[in-house]
Amino acid sequence: MNYSFWEKKFIQTPMDLTIIGSGIVGLSAAISIKEKQPWLTVKILERGSLPYGASTKNAGFSCFGSVSEILDDIQQIGEEQTMEIVKMRYQGLKILKSRVQPQQMEYQHHGGTELFRKSDNILKEQCINSIVYCNELMHSHLDISNCYSLVKNRKLTAYDTDAIYNASEGIINPVAMMNALSRKAADLGISVVYGINITEVDRQNKVIKTDQHLIIEYKRLIVCTNGFTAALFPELEVVPARNQVLITEKLDNNPLDSGYHMDKGYVYFRNYEGRILLGGGRNLDHSGELTDQFGHTALIQEYLKKILEELYPGASSKIYHWWSGILGIGPSKYPICKWVDEDIIAGVRLGGMGVAIGSYLGEMLACEVIK
Ligand SMILES: Cc1cc2nc3c(=O)[nH]c(=O)nc-3n(C[C@H](O)[C@H](O)[C@H](O)COP(=O)(O)OP(=O)(O)OC[C@H]3O[C@@H](n4cnc5c(N)ncnc54)[C@H](O)[C@@H]3O)c2cc1C
Repeated sequence: MNYSFWEKKFIQTPMDLTIIGSGIVGLSAAISIKEKQPWLTVKILERGSLPYGASTKNAGFSCFGSVSEILDDIQQIGEEQTMEIVKMRYQGLKILKSRVQPQQMEYQHHGGTELFRKSDNILKEQCINSIVYCNELMHSHLDISNCYSLVKNRKLTAYDTDAIYNASEGIINPVAMMNALSRKAADLGISVVYGINITEVDRQNKVIKTDQHLIIEYKRLIVCTNGFTAALFPELEVVPARNQVLITEKLDNNPLDSGYHMDKGYVYFRNYEGRILLGGGRNLDHSGELTDQFGHTALIQEYLKKILEELYPGASSKIYHWWSGILGIGPSKYPICKWVDEDIIAGVRLGGMGVAIGSYLGEMLACEVIK
């Protein structure tokens, strides 16, 4: 890269806070910091020409958990921890909505529907029998009444007629959301520098190095690199997980009228302007999808095409575009908000509901760095 003197000076001038990664967490952390202490200087360094991870590539579900996911988490980590994470997601959505107007992120409050396969009778019965219990949890922790209800699925006939509806969920356009957050960041005086791929953090000399041989001093560093964290901080317990997604052309009489989840959240689909967006299926090849490489596999593409045909016969010949995104997962669904050095903090491991939890994690990071 042929940087001018002016560009080098701009990129290399040390700021009070330097953030790596301009996804929802990096932007939210920067905004939270400036809202609390506007005099601090904050710069975000991003390797892509757009954010290049998950925040502009996701499915746009503004969700905090289906009944099967909640039950699954309770089984693994207990009720208290599960509800702590659900609360973070719910609070995160509140923060996001306070910053971005519904029309700015194309928010549609259509709710979310959990569908069951006809062969999933045991899971279905378990979920239906737990609706009252989950509603009590949501009421006592989130103050939402009658969050989940049993509804009839009559349109998507390949699936069970019993489904569970969450009236508190919605769908957004993730790029519109990120553009609105970027504008807010710019208004607060936060600079985002794109095309800066950081290859090393030299903690001893308090500098970061880039693949273009730039050396950038930092005072305090906030690491928001989610699924790509291992390259810089291998000691953090976060691994990449790829999600493959398709979108069709506009379809006549598209049967989808809300966000839909299936297979404990591993498969998700929704309507976008008459198109079907469908993604997931990572559970088909758990280890193969633990990668930070964008791309597709025939196994998952064929699987998603099969589901697409079940949703709308003939739609697999009307696929308009495929893409993938990388999220960060680990042994716990808890996001990591942790000091890795006295002046470096990481906010990573967002899992599959980062639209929800991202703004909350940004707020947590801000509270840590300015306390
Ligand atoms: C296909 C898909 C669908 C999803 N659907 C949903 C959904 O519907 N609802 C939901 O809530 N969540 C969803 N998620 C999850 C959600 O998108 C993520 O949890 C969230 O976006 C993570 O935000 P982040 O800021 O932590 O990470 P990211 O958005 O990945 O941002 C990290 C940034 O760091 C940058 N970076 C990394 N390494 C470096 C480096 N060395 N130097 C400079 N920059 C670097 C990357 O380029 C990237 O822009 C989905 C994820 C995927 C992949």
